[in-house]
Amino acid sequence: MIKYAEVLYESIVDGTGIRVVAFLQGCPRACEGCHNPELQPAEGGREMDEERFAEQLLKHVSPLHQGITFSGGDPLMQGEALLSVLKIIKGKRPDLSIWVYTGYRFDQVRDMPVMRYIDVLVDGPFILQQRDLTLAFRGSANQRLIDVPFSLREGRVIEIGPVS
Ligand code: SF4
Repeated sequence: MIKYAEVLYESIVDGTGIRVVAFLQGCPRACEGCHNPELQPAEGGREMDEERFAEQLLKHVSPLHQGITFSGGDPLMQGEALLSVLKIIKGKRPDLSIWVYTGYRFDQVRDMPVMRYIDVLVDGPFILQQRDLTLAFRGSANQRLIDVPFSLREGRVIEIGPVS
């Protein structure tokens, strides 16, 4: 089962292009200025079978959509459930890009099996003192937009090119 709080079917602020966005429930941190504090408690949200959840997300993908983003909360708190969801999505729609927002740093999660199904990882917690409203798709300057397949292949963090 996967725990989620909300799904947006059209967003242009959670990654490149038009995207479906799933906000998963639960985050172990309590960053000052957190954009979604109600998503921090692990006991909140709704539960859904992983296969059904993947189908729900795919059902709302139109030809205009570029991909699906998982935010929260911290989606990697539910790494096993997310892995099951992403296997289904990538199996059916390998053309869709998968973005995941996490409070973990890349080096802390690079060995998780789910990483093999993620295209872009926005890593690190939100740090209020480093907030920068001019940055695309992230809240604070410490966070990075990481090209996961490239980074895993090269064995070092490689950020994606300029985005807007
Ligand atoms: S990592 Fe993200 S969701 Fe978790 S407390 Fe920090 S800002 Fe909120």
